[in-house]
Amino acid sequence: MKMIRKTAVCLAAFLLLTLGLGGCQISQEPETRTVFAMDTVITLTAYGENAGKALDAAVQKLNDYDLLLDVDSGDIGAVNENAGEFVGVSEEVYKLLSDCVEFSRQTDGAFDLTVGRYINLWGFRSQTRVPSDEEIAEAAEFVGWEQIELADGKVKIPEGMQLDLGAVAKGFVAGKLKELLTEYGIESAILSLGGNVTTLGEKPDGSQFVVAIRDPNDPDAYLDTVNVSDTAVVTSGSYMRYFDVDGVRYHHIIDPETGKPADSGLVSVTVICTDDTAADAYATAFFVMGAEKTSEFLKDRPEINVIMVETNGEIIRVN
Ligand code: AMP
Ligand code: MG
Repeated sequence: MKMIRKTAVCLAAFLLLTLGLGGCQISQEPETRTVFAMDTVITLTAYGENAGKALDAAVQKLNDYDLLLDVDSGDIGAVNENAGEFVGVSEEVYKLLSDCVEFSRQTDGAFDLTVGRYINLWGFRSQTRVPSDEEIAEAAEFVGWEQIELADGKVKIPEGMQLDLGAVAKGFVAGKLKELLTEYGIESAILSLGGNVTTLGEKPDGSQFVVAIRDPNDPDAYLDTVNVSDTAVVTSGSYMRYFDVDGVRYHHIIDPETGKPADSGLVSVTVICTDDTAADAYATAFFVMGAEKTSEFLKDRPEINVIMVETNGEIIRVN
């Protein structure tokens, strides 16, 4: 594990900025689409002859996935609505849910797709409020990834449980959009979905994409840049969604052990790896696990690079 000092540099207020720092002239002008979906601003940028057409198809697909993965609609909504029964889902949602169960297992439940009841309780999808300990204890009965049953393309959760794919949906969709762009012949693209940035290929001039990682303590600054191609850069942070009551900040990443906002000493975690869905799930899980457990977890996973920022501003890099 390597410690470095924070070098914050002021910049315009974007969560993750993509910078054109390549040394050579870019050979083609990119096409861009900016839309609001999945509860965030999404910017899709692609290079190449077919880029406009490909991006229009990607926006359409993005909206479809938004509905498919929402807690109240599509496949996930149907599973939630029919808790207690086996519900048939599409092949790709079945695969995603199977992967999520595996992420939950690997991270010892730090990532848990069954936290829906907690999210409802804290009101992150409606009116935020601080629930009582009794309410949290009651909801805890209905949280626990081990209780999900997956068989023959069907999914069953116990009555009272609610799936919430908020921690992986953007990563999963980012990966799917890259696949779609590839089908359109696109070889170079960068997609930014809130805290998720992902890249397809490299820039047309052959240089890597440069992704800036926001300083969690200063919305106008970034603390580092990473050069990537065909790689996801996903950040989870307590600064992304929160509310304050009586001087206490309550954020949206819940520790499934306590039912309360995770208090692991981190303010943000950035995961850099080639698998978009995994990067998203891990960023959330590592935020819950904290620096020490995460470093241990990464010991035999050198392909996953992580940048963690602690509450005191210290930056910890692993791999
Ligand atoms: P992310 O921004 O990817 O870290 O995802 C945070 C979102 O995932 C929250 O807004 C919740 O919808 C959901 N969530 C919160 N805590 C967890 C957790 N421990 N495991 C899985 N999903 C979570
Ligand atoms: Mg996540």
